[in-house]
Amino acid sequence: MTFHSSVPAVLVFAGSDPTGGAGIEADILTLASLGCRAAPVITAVTVQDTTDIHEFHAVDTEIVISQARAVLEDMPIAAIKTGMLAQGETISAIATIARSYPDIPLIVDPVLASGGGQELSADPLEDAYRSTLLPLARLVTPNTLEARRLASQGDSLAACAQEILALGCEKVLITGTHSSSKNVNHKLYSRQGIEKSYEVERLPQSFHGSGCTLASACAAGFAHGIDDVDCIGHALYYTQQTLKHGYRPGMGQHLPHHLYWAEEIRTRIKD
Ligand code: PLP
Repeated sequence: MTFHSSVPAVLVFAGSDPTGGAGIEADILTLASLGCRAAPVITAVTVQDTTDIHEFHAVDTEIVISQARAVLEDMPIAAIKTGMLAQGETISAIATIARSYPDIPLIVDPVLASGGGQELSADPLEDAYRSTLLPLARLVTPNTLEARRLASQGDSLAACAQEILALGCEKVLITGTHSSSKNVNHKLYSRQGIEKSYEVERLPQSFHGSGCTLASACAAGFAHGIDDVDCIGHALYYTQQTLKHGYRPGMGQHLPHHLYWAEEIRTRIKD
């Protein structure tokens, strides 16, 4: 049995977002809020504000892998979560690492583009995801656009989910933020079909970082040993709270308030 301390560590592979709303910054704040330690491995540096992504620079795959190996050889890791990976060779190198740790649950948020539609890699990543990382995942969390791109043949979202599951992963959570339904509907699929649907109030604002927050919150649940359906329910609750408490610090999108739960303490200190 793997040893988990009371604050389990989650190895996170993701890009850095200087607005602090998405990327590894969202992962660190989410994991800390949910009682985990993030072990953050930076895969890309982005130049962005709350209106747009202006540039991104992938970190050399070798450096990504050395960061991860250093931590994996030093401390027990309770879950691995991936976000923006920026290049195909990084995806396959992370899959090689994940294969050496088959007992650690792997949560893959298959980031292909920003919410505004800008590609977050120089080369197409779908093949690398399909052939290396997705087959190893305990949970994959594509939005509807990513699900359609990762599945080359499915016409319905249910068919896309089955095509992704056929690669070998255990569960697929297709998130519904990008569709035009009144409320947001997320669906958890297993090979048997829809395992659970989750309906969440659609908030009027446009948010940056909700997908990273949700996938990290799921990783926290797995790190604590909670089962899939409960873990996603808790993750959606936390994510929705961060959005309800979200605010607009700049000139563009709203950002989640990951530390909303600490407001009371902050107010007391200020008083
Ligand atoms: N920047 C980084 C570093 C990201 O990882 C992501 C998404 O994963 C984004 C930006 C885009 O976030 P959003 O789609 O919420 O705008």
